[in-house]
Parts: sequence; C-alpha cells; structure tokens
Amino acid sequence: MTLILPDTSSAVVNDLRQLLGSAKVQNDFPTLTAYAVDASIYRMTPKAVVMVESEEDIDAVVRFAVSRGIALTPRAAGTNLTGSAIGAGIILDVSRMNRILEVNEQERWARVQPGIVLAELNRQLARQKLLFGPDPSSGDMCKLGGMVANNSSGPHTLAYGAVKDNVDALRVCLPSGAWLSAAPLRLDDPALHQTLASHPSLKPILDMVQQHRALIEGKRPTVSKNSCGYNLFGLADGLKHELFDLPKLFVGSEGTLGVMSEATLRLAPKPQGTLTALIHFRRLEDVGDAVPHLLSLRPSALEVMDANTLNLIGRAAHGIPADAAATLLAELDSHESQADLRERADRMAAISRRYQLCAEPTIAYDKDQRDQLWKARKALYPTLYRFDPRKKPINFVDDVVVRAERISELIRYLETFFEGQHVPVAIFGHIGNGNAHIVPLLNVNDPRDFEKMVEAYHEIHQTVLSRFDGSICGEHGDGRVRAEYVRKMFGEDLYQLFVQVKRAVDPTNVMNPGIKISEASFTEHIDYQRLSKSCATCAKCNSVCPVYDVFQSEDMSSRGWFEIVTSKDYSYLNSKRVVEACLNCKSCRTICPAGVDVSELILKRRAEHPNQGSRWLFALHARPIIFEGILKVLAMTQSWWDRPLPRKLLERHAAPVLKRIAPTAQLPADIVFPKLASKHLRDRYPELTQPLKDGTGPRIAYFHGCAANYFEDGVGDAVISVLRKHGVEPALPPQRCSGTPIETYGHVDLVRENARFNIQSLSGYDAVVTGCASCTLMLKEYKKFFENEPQREKADGLAKKVMHITEYVAQSGKQPAMGAPEGSPQRVTYHSSCHLRAAGVTKQPRQLLSNLPGTEYVEMSEADRCAGGAGTYLVKDYETSQKIFDRKRRNIEQSEADTVATSCPACMIQLNNGLRGRAAVKHVAQVLNDAYEAGAQQGNEGPGAAQ
Ligand SMILES: Cc1cc2nc3c(=O)[nH]c(=O)nc-3n(C[C@H](O)[C@H](O)[C@H](O)COP(=O)(O)OP(=O)(O)OC[C@H]3O[C@@H](n4cnc5c(N)ncnc54)[C@H](O)[C@@H]3O)c2cc1C
Ligand code: SF4
Ligand code: SF4
Repeated sequence: MTLILPDTSSAVVNDLRQLLGSAKVQNDFPTLTAYAVDASIYRMTPKAVVMVESEEDIDAVVRFAVSRGIALTPRAAGTNLTGSAIGAGIILDVSRMNRILEVNEQERWARVQPGIVLAELNRQLARQKLLFGPDPSSGDMCKLGGMVANNSSGPHTLAYGAVKDNVDALRVCLPSGAWLSAAPLRLDDPALHQTLASHPSLKPILDMVQQHRALIEGKRPTVSKNSCGYNLFGLADGLKHELFDLPKLFVGSEGTLGVMSEATLRLAPKPQGTLTALIHFRRLEDVGDAVPHLLSLRPSALEVMDANTLNLIGRAAHGIPADAAATLLAELDSHESQADLRERADRMAAISRRYQLCAEPTIAYDKDQRDQLWKARKALYPTLYRFDPRKKPINFVDDVVVRAERISELIRYLETFFEGQHVPVAIFGHIGNGNAHIVPLLNVNDPRDFEKMVEAYHEIHQTVLSRFDGSICGEHGDGRVRAEYVRKMFGEDLYQLFVQVKRAVDPTNVMNPGIKISEASFTEHIDYQRLSKSCATCAKCNSVCPVYDVFQSEDMSSRGWFEIVTSKDYSYLNSKRVVEACLNCKSCRTICPAGVDVSELILKRRAEHPNQGSRWLFALHARPIIFEGILKVLAMTQSWWDRPLPRKLLERHAAPVLKRIAPTAQLPADIVFPKLASKHLRDRYPELTQPLKDGTGPRIAYFHGCAANYFEDGVGDAVISVLRKHGVEPALPPQRCSGTPIETYGHVDLVRENARFNIQSLSGYDAVVTGCASCTLMLKEYKKFFENEPQREKADGLAKKVMHITEYVAQSGKQPAMGAPEGSPQRVTYHSSCHLRAAGVTKQPRQLLSNLPGTEYVEMSEADRCAGGAGTYLVKDYETSQKIFDRKRRNIEQSEADTVATSCPACMIQLNNGLRGRAAVKHVAQVLNDAYEAGAQQGNEGPGAAQ
C-alpha cells in the first residue's frame, strides 16, 4: 500500500502534541535536521520527532501513525550504518526509556529498556560481575533497542554470540496497536494459543514456517553469522524443539515489525582476567592459516586489519611496523586463574611464531593498555574520514561474511578488485567469524567514483554469494543499503516468505518502510552533500556530550549540532535554542576520531551573533580598576550578602539582567558562591609582579587567570608555593582574562584584544605555568584568532611555552620531600577537567596524586566526563548544569573518596556547589603543596619519603 504523507509536518505535529503534550514532539529546523541522518550514507528529513518516555507514549504514536498511514521509524542512538533509523515520516526516539528494570544475579538475566547505552548497561552490571556479551565497536554510543533490532554483534561474538543468542524475551508494540510479550513458547502450551488468538498476525507466520521448513533450512547461510533477511532460520530451529521462538522473529527485524519497549537479556559472568595481543604478520596468507590454530585457544575475539587499513590509519601513529601485511588483535578471557591466561598466552605466542612476524606479539593484561591496543580498531571507520578531504569511507559493501578459513582469500580478492578500480580501501573485521568490513574511500560526487561504487556493490556481493557461499550481511543489518540485495541473497521463494512476514504483521507498511523489504535502489537518498563534509556521523561525540546526556535527543547533541551549524539552511535565529546550549567543554573534539571540532564550529556561529547582554560585563572586566574595586567591596561585604535572605533578593534582582544574557540564566539563592578574596592574589604577592629583570635562572611566569586572582580558593597560593618548592621564583606578569568565557559569548574582538596583550606580556619568559585548565588550553590556542597575521607566529611561540602546573611538576628535575599532613585525604579521586584533557594533559595529575604518601588514589568511573560547570555555564543554564552534575556526583560517591582533586578553579566551583561538603574539593596543586609542607615539617628527605 502506498503511504499518504501529509504535505506539511505541522498537521502531524499538532495532532501528535494533542496526544502526547508539546514537550515530547518536535519539528523545528534543528530537530528535523539533526534527525535526518544516522551513521549511514543517507539523509531523509522526517516530518516530526517524538521522544517517547513510556509504553503509553509508544502505543499512542504507533496507533496514530497506522491510522494516518504515516511512516514510523523507531530510533535509538542512530549509529546504524545502513540508513535504518531515518525516515520521511515520524521518528520515534526511545532514548529516554533508558532504565535497567530488573537484574537477576543468580539466574543471570536483566530486563532493560531500549534506550540504555550498551557501555552504561555493562558499567552497571559490572558491579554484579556480569555483562551483556554482544559488543559492537560502537558500544560507547549504541543502545539496546538498536542492537536488538539489528541483531548486532562485535569483536567478541566468538565468545558470546550475537544479540539473537542472548535475548530471552521482548515486549513489542505491534502495528495492530496490541502489545506482544514475545517469549519462546512450546507448541502445545496453552499460552501459545492465547498469544496467537490475541495477535492474529502471528498464526500465518507459524503456519508458513512449518509448511516451508525445508525451503528455509535449504537456504540457511552456511557461515557463522548472518543478519540478512528475517530470521526464519531461528524460527525453524525452534520448531525442532517444538517451540515457536518468537524473539527470533523480532531480533534483527530493524524496526519493520513493531516498536520494542523492553528486552530480557541473558547475561554472562565477567571474566576474571583478560589479555589482549597485537600480532603483526608479514604475509596476509599466514593470518588465514593461523586462524584455525588460534581458534583452538578459545579466543573471545580475533580481529584483523589489512595492509591498506594500516596505511590509511597511519602506521607510525599506531606503532605498526612498515612491513606488516596484516595485524591481528586477539583476546583471551579466563574464568579460572591468571596462570591459565598466561599459559594460553604462551601457546598463542608459540603458534604465532610459526609464521613470519614483523615483531614479537605485544601482550597486555592491564585494562588501560588493553584499551590502548583496541583504540585504533574501535574508531577505525570514523578515523578513515581524516584520510582525504574529498574521498570518504563509504559503507555499501561493509559487512560480508565467509567461512573463517577463507578470509585471507576474500581479502586478497578484495584488494585485487579495488586495486583494479584504483580505489583505496580499508578491510578489517572479525576474522574469527569470517566477517569482513570493507570500506572503500570514494568521492561519490564524482560520477566516476559513483560508477565504481555501483559496480563494486554488485560485483562484490555477487562474488561473496557465488564464489564464497557467504552472506552479504553479518551484523550491520540490511537497512536501505542491502534491501535491494536481500532477494538475490536468498532467491525468490524465500524472499516471498519474508514479504509475507512483513505483510502479516504490518499490512499497511507503516513500520520503517524502505528497510529490509524494499525494491528501492541502494543509491536512493544518498546524502551527497554530507559525504563531502568532515563528520562521519558516527555519534562517538554524543557519548561524551554532557548536553546529550541530559536531553537524550539529537537536536541537543554534538553530532546533531554539527549537522545543524553546517546546514545550508542554518540561521542563528532558527537554531539559537541549540547553538546556545553547548558548554564548550570540548569533550567532542577530544574524542572525535575524524578530527572534527564541533565546539569550534559552534563558537564561530556564536561569533556571528555576539551576546549583547553580556558585553557590558566583559567591557567592565576590561577596566581592572573599576572591576576589581567592585569585587573587593563585594568581598568585604560577602559575610553580609551571602546569607539566605539577601541572596533571595539578589536572585530576584539579578534575574532581569541575567535574562538578557540567556533566557535560562539565573543566580539561585542556594548556589554555593565561591569566597571572594578581599586581597587579590596579585596584591598578596607584590614582589612577584615586578617587571621582568635579566637574571641567570629560567624565567617562569605564572598565568593565574581570573579565578585564582579574585577568589579565595587557595589555588594561586598553592601554585606559587609548589613552584617555589621546585626552586622556581615565578613572576606574575600583567595579564588579562585568557578569553575562554568571553569567546563562549561570541565576543571574538575582545578575545583578540586580550590575546594580543597576553602574548606581549608573556613573551619574555621561558615557560608559562598555569593553574587553570581553560587558561592552559586558551593560551595554547591563541593562534586560531590570528589567521594570516604576524601575531600568529608569536601565538605559536607562546603555545609551546605553556604548561599546566601538573605538567611542570611531573617533568621537574627536583623532587621535594613529601609527607602525610594531619587530616590529609585518606582516599583521593580525580575529576579530569575537560579543557586540560583537550590540551592533552591527562596522565600527570593522576601520576602526582598516586604518589601522595599516606593517601590512596582511586580512579573514579567516568573521571573524564564533564561536570557541567564550564565557567559561566553554571549561571547561564543552572538547571542543565545541575542535571549534568548528577552523573558526576554518583561517580564521586561510588569512588568513596573523601577528597576530589581537580586541575581547574572553575570545576572546583561546580564541585563545591554540587557536593555541598560530601567530599572535600581541592586543586591538585593544593594537595601537592600540603604534602610538600608536611614533608618539610616532618624533616623527610628525598622523593616519596615518609610513607
Ligand atoms: C564506528 C561504528 C562501529 C560499529 N561497529 C559495529 C559492530 O562492531 N557490530 C555491529 O553489529 N554494528 C556496528 N555498528 C553499527 C551500529 O552501531 C549497531 O548496529 C548498533 O547496534 C545500532 O544501535 P543504535 O542504538 O545506534 O540503533 P539505531 O541506529 O538507532 O537503530 C538501528 C535499528 O534499530 C531500530 N530500532 C531502534 N530502537 C528500536 C526499538 N525500540 N524498537 C524497534 N526497532 C528499533 C531502528 O529502527 C533501526 O532499524 C557500528 C557503527 C559505527 C558508527
Ligand atoms: S563529530 Fe566526530 S565523533 Fe562526532 S559524529 Fe562527527 S565524526 Fe563522529
Ligand atoms: S563542546 Fe561539550 S557540550 Fe558542546 S558539543 Fe562538544 S561535547 Fe557537547
């Protein structure tokens, strides 16, 4: 049946809002733009997006879509590579349904909602030493709804199987509007008859599978994994055991048969120990030969990257030998002992040595080192986006499967084929399963490359079927990209059974049309414009974007913002709501494998519309005599005004002024205000503010920034004292605000002014030490403000000299004695400030904290996650900032630390406000200085004395 799509989205949206309330239904420009893409090569702009929060919401949307004949596309994280989470009708986003409903530790199962992220699920299950096994490489961002609907799997399929092997039951809202509790039912169970009576669409499917069992069995792919077509093979397997195995029908159905609201997952015990090995082979053939031998060690993962892939991601950057023809990543789990693991590691090394290796295998047991070995593999696809500004990795033959022992032959065939086409290609994948991911780099806007893509699509799929007897789809799903080929994969008879399944359950073809069962060519809806941009739409940035974490909707996410601010239809007015929501935490930039800096793009857009409401404040700030005078008066009177009643009055009277900065801005009466210094740092150390003199020692400047100067937070004193303990008498040269907060309000002209001043003032020093994460990053990046100007070179020179105090101490030749001060922290944890991470400083603070005598260092979970303060964001959007902090608070509490150390005075404000005394908050320099002071008092000597 042809769908009737209304001309305008407003009619659909108005009606949906009547049903669900306005907050859950969106159709403004940012929302429709952000939801028009997933991680595939396609684009389709929807009419409306609904953020469902309950089964009632799902129910209402499904009934509405069916009654109006409007296409309905369920969506979770939108990381599929096939175009299956975009559509022209309504997008139903399940991300806000993201709870674990129940865990049964003894029986090892969990009931979960579809919006939970796999990494989050496993983080929570780890406390019970359990895990959900299937692990797509997108595990940091993909969600259970998408995983179930795609029958996802990943590197560890060898040990845990695919999703279909790990789902016991599902709750699904069928297009009929009825809710199905899909569990395997015995054919003679009265419950089955009841189910068939309540859901008449299922009886014909059971009859059909019974009747065509031989056909289905005959067409079963003979490879170890398959996600092509509906899983009638699973239903036929069930019949062998007298079961109607209903979950098998829905797992892998890609949202074409209904909307899933709940899944009961089978869990596995977490291994006691794991090792990861990286083995570089000189000959590709050897990899294929080694696989059967390595499989005898029962590896949980065996991953391969071919020579082209290694070239494309950069051998030097990943320490890969120049003569490696292929690299194998192998992982072994042990549920027994470390000895067992080491014994198997020895056997693995012995097997590998039978072949021509480029070097001894690298073997890692430690989690950080193992993660490091996996890093390049997991981010492989988006990393390929860095290769060429025009030629992009295109997923269109990305997921073929052959028998594992033929994988080298397949790779050789593919390399020859693409060589013939003169197309660079990355070939990597789950070699233990024979599942190869093939990602050619093409400029699809060039007609010659476009033709090569179409040729490769047909040629490779056909060869995989005829020569290798394989499958065209191992785990990514059919989506739009393979729908055209499903018929060819299984032949007309079985394909017609798939069509019957779809017609029985979804007779009006409302559920995700164009997916799996479709006649459309794979080239329809290709997003030619986006495929010339720099973003891979992989959504990795969403996994760290604090705003996405709170709102769980694409229009409030890093990936969505890239789409919005780079759209040809963008205007500040149509997108102000979202452009102003970014914290400028730069977490997206730090993590993006493709090298995209979404925060920078947003800042550029803000600079086109500087925030007028804040300009007066920065103008005042630029007049230190007046500004600092006001601050000093406020400091002297703080004990009076920083009490409940005056603060209430302040909240009320500040509101109209703050509203001019942002509609969400407020200064709540109960916010914990940092103590203002009545004597500013520079006034406390007048001897350090003298003009630079010629001397013999190194000339070290301390760039204290605003907070350490104006607040009595102890940071400035600690930094100076620590530097002195390291034999340095720092100077406090004249300085202006580094510019971070000013830039976030779009006043680039003011930032430039300050940058010029600071570059000049700091030019005579050998090193510039900072105590603030944001100042560190900003001083290192001044050159971006001086394109084609002579100032750029000077800015570059400054960048090379800037170091955070933790960097300075970590590299200092002097190691002052340390001791445990009275009342020193028993257990300290570290909140890693976003801008320091973006500046590349991550190890040093942790290393310093780990060496404190008498104090245990504990790494908190998600230490690298933004705490939500982001300078003035705390005031600009207090509510969101506090929601962001909720997650940080939970992680701090779970760490059971009595002290949280960080590297940024601005983060300290947020931590103090959010924790309200539940743990002490200190700068790393303070903790360090306390230990030095105690060391000196206790008369300790040498590094690390007085434990
Ligand atoms: C860098 C990268 C690496 C990847 N690696 C792997 C890998 O190793 N293995 C692998 O299998 N895949 C991989 N993928 C593909 C993808 O991440 C997975 O298929 C993932 O499980 C999709 O989950 P999602 O939450 O993003 O789903 P989405 O993309 O949102 O949706 C996927 C499908 O599920 C349907 N759906 C979502 N929620 C529901 C629901 N509640 N009810 C019914 N249908 C629903 C959608 O309609 C769509 O058809 C990778 C992708 C990227 C970008
Ligand atoms: S910005 Fe980077 S991390 Fe984010 S979606 Fe694009 S490529 Fe992926
Ligand atoms: S800077 Fe932070 S808030 Fe802004 S898009 Fe990036 S991750 Fe999200």
